[in-house]
Amino acid sequence: MKYLLHTYGCQMNVRDAESVAACLEAAGHLPAINEADADLIIVNTCSVRDKAEDKAVGKLGLLCAGKRTAPQRLVGVMGCMAQRRGAALLKRLPQLDFVLGTRQQRALPVILFRLAAGEHGIVQLDDPGVAPRVPDAHLSGSISAFVTVLLGCNRRCAYCVVPDVRGAEYSRPAKDILEEVHSLAASGTREVTLLGQSVMNYGRSNPVWDSATPSPGGFREDLPRLLEAVSAIPGVRRIRFTSGHPTGCTDEVVRAMREIPHVCPHLHLPVQSGSDRVLGLMRRGYTAAQYLDAVARLRSAMSDFTLTSDVIVGFPTETEDDFEATRRLMEAAAFDNTFIFKYSPRPNTPAAAMKDDVPTAEKMRRNQVLLEDQDLLGQRLNEACVGRTLDVLAEGVSLRNTQRWSGRSPGNKIVIFKHEPPIVAGDLVSVQITSAKPQALYGEVGLQAPDDRGQNKCTTP
Ligand code: SAM
Ligand code: SF4
Repeated sequence: MKYLLHTYGCQMNVRDAESVAACLEAAGHLPAINEADADLIIVNTCSVRDKAEDKAVGKLGLLCAGKRTAPQRLVGVMGCMAQRRGAALLKRLPQLDFVLGTRQQRALPVILFRLAAGEHGIVQLDDPGVAPRVPDAHLSGSISAFVTVLLGCNRRCAYCVVPDVRGAEYSRPAKDILEEVHSLAASGTREVTLLGQSVMNYGRSNPVWDSATPSPGGFREDLPRLLEAVSAIPGVRRIRFTSGHPTGCTDEVVRAMREIPHVCPHLHLPVQSGSDRVLGLMRRGYTAAQYLDAVARLRSAMSDFTLTSDVIVGFPTETEDDFEATRRLMEAAAFDNTFIFKYSPRPNTPAAAMKDDVPTAEKMRRNQVLLEDQDLLGQRLNEACVGRTLDVLAEGVSLRNTQRWSGRSPGNKIVIFKHEPPIVAGDLVSVQITSAKPQALYGEVGLQAPDDRGQNKCTTP
């Protein structure tokens, strides 16, 4: 069969989509070029906001309607919304062929056999009694790969549906992760991003190492030990991990970021709000001062540290003063980029019991103000890079400008440059930055950056 995947949502979903595609290809199926060409279409969904679910339901409705003219085409749904709504989705969309839960990607080839045998409307959700199976299959040939290290989340922030739809935390055994990274590096991957909703909790819910002996670098905590072991894998040039949590920025994590070769000096550290009152209601487990203290420790350890974040506007009871506190925090933390979300009540979360009392128009206004603040901040921080030479991991032709190539700096900034032979994707190139926009840097290629392990430890934004 030819398959097509439509993916909404976060990096976790992108990773799940890749593992499903790899499973399908291992079973002999091929990617389709478009919907008309596809025998199987899967919508990989997000539940974080109402809008994300509406979008996915709309898309599924269109695909199911398309079965009138292409009745043999299979249409399925996977991801967070599939897990949250389960069989109820079949009531709304009876033409759906299957509903696959968040930890069930590997069941897909069997489901396809069952559909071929005449079944319809198969619902396969997570079974808490069964040990989690972590997606580990990859499509070959990518320079940069996501590697899941932690499933689920135990934090239960008041607004968030993720713990319900992705389940309790489960940390993968370190040896499985290292095997996966070894095989990725052997097939040409140069950058790995270790994924977990609250990745600094790696190893806290279940043991991940066979022994508790400190690592060669003297690390005792599980995430630093993992970073050190990944760094030793030949071929790995860059290591990232996401998403961070301020309470997870321990001295060891900070030291690991500073000392371990190839670990990039960038962190995505969602703050959500700058108001202590709102942070308390959100059950985030830190104050604005504690957040800024974590940032200060990271910055003093790494002169070239870059920081990105998530902010929610319009959480129940958020006042103008709370909102102004968020604006001040964004300035004080100097975010290189911020993803801004308008609060959306999610079923069965503690915040859903509160009145959603910030009017939509006000949420939109606050959202717009923060976008403009972030643009100014991003422009200022990026302009400081003009004239500097950055090590850029070349990724390939820029999607926005096919005359140029794009890559990422150690600080995860997008860098657009003119391709010079013999540069190929996966090379580390030195790019002298000539101009800046809030979301990207532009420059000219200089000499190829050295790949002397440890020596080219990211030193520039
Ligand atoms: N695990 C990460 C963390 O600790 O923040 C991110 C999880 S979530 C997939 C990504 C972002 O969605 C969150 O950081 C938050 O800003 C936003 N988000 C989650 N629930 C939301 C809600 N109910 N309404 C609006 N935004 C939400
Ligand atoms: Fe959701 Fe909070 Fe867990 Fe992030 S840490 S996934 S925001 S509950």
